[in-house]
Amino acid sequence: MSGFVFGEKPIGIESGEGVHLYGEDGTEYLDFGASYACAPVGHCHPDVVSAVEEQASDLLFVQGSYPTETRAALYDRLAGLAPGDCSNVWLCNSGTEANEAALKFARHATGREKVVAAKRAFHGRTLGALAATWKPKYREGFAVPENVEFVDYGDSEALAEAVDEETAAVLLEPVQGEGGVNPAPEGYLAAAREACDDAGAALVFDEIQTGLGRTGSLWACENAGVEPDVLTVAKGLASGLPIGATLCAGWIAEDAGNHGSTFSGGPVPCAAALATLDVIEDEGLAGHASEVGAHFQSELADLPVRDVRGEGLLVGVEVKRGANRALPSLAMEHGILALPAGRTVVRFLPPLTVSEGDVETVASALEAVL
Ligand SMILES: *Cc1c(COP(=O)(O)O)cnc(C)c1O
Repeated sequence: MSGFVFGEKPIGIESGEGVHLYGEDGTEYLDFGASYACAPVGHCHPDVVSAVEEQASDLLFVQGSYPTETRAALYDRLAGLAPGDCSNVWLCNSGTEANEAALKFARHATGREKVVAAKRAFHGRTLGALAATWKPKYREGFAVPENVEFVDYGDSEALAEAVDEETAAVLLEPVQGEGGVNPAPEGYLAAAREACDDAGAALVFDEIQTGLGRTGSLWACENAGVEPDVLTVAKGLASGLPIGATLCAGWIAEDAGNHGSTFSGGPVPCAAALATLDVIEDEGLAGHASEVGAHFQSELADLPVRDVRGEGLLVGVEVKRGANRALPSLAMEHGILALPAGRTVVRFLPPLTVSEGDVETVASALEAVL
């Protein structure tokens, strides 16, 4: 039996190790999608697996209002890693929930309602985050709230014009992921910072896809030297166990309003997150992502495609005949898994542990299928 919401692919997966996934018949796949960036340190990293095993045998779960050492350690860890003043941590279970919380907190702290987001943005599928998600196909028929104004991504003037005294938050991805792998143009994030400062609005960076070292720095906003008021992270934070975090500046946290979640800060995902962050830091994976990502883009540069773009190991290739042709051939003929980003872009989000040899393999396979 298969589920009714998701389409499923004809590729059963039974196990994973490092940059590879394996089917039940032993077929090996080189995983350049990492299940939507959920395997930053590779599949089944031994440190993450043993942290989960140890925590699971001590305590599977306790509600968030009882302090635990594991949760306190993750609060401290994220506070220490957060950009700027974003050291107040809310833990939840997914990316969309991290963004829901960000929007609720920003609205409460500012006493305003309006949100400014970008065309092609993806922020999640629950109603609040969906209201800031651009794609009409995702929104149709769901009575999505209409308090979000969309502006062209990358247009600093349009953004400055949209942000006013009614604006609670500007919500942006530092590199748009699902919307086509669109890096912010030079100066755009700084212009967003300025517009928010002028209007007294909160600048929220959705780093759910770009965070954790993928773009060459721990957070993509560091590449632009811009600090947000709120930063959201999820996806690979606990190596695929459900977790999300909303990191808030003091002025947001002080007046964030009432919020909660049964599973907030459960011990097992927190243990997995701590181990994942250890590996990212100990193995210098942000720097590695920057180097290998640059090599990947240079290997892709001569392909007969419309565009190659991205930051670090978030790389998009805009293809002429559509991503829906290239992706099945990559998987079936070359054992390489990747993701689409819209109709025309093939998106690569591999584990940050991939080697130069791996990216060369993928570049030549893509050349062959094109
Ligand atoms: C995946 C993603 C989300 C949503 O995360 P979920 O865990 O699927 O709810 C939000 N924002 C960005 C940028 C994402 O890539």
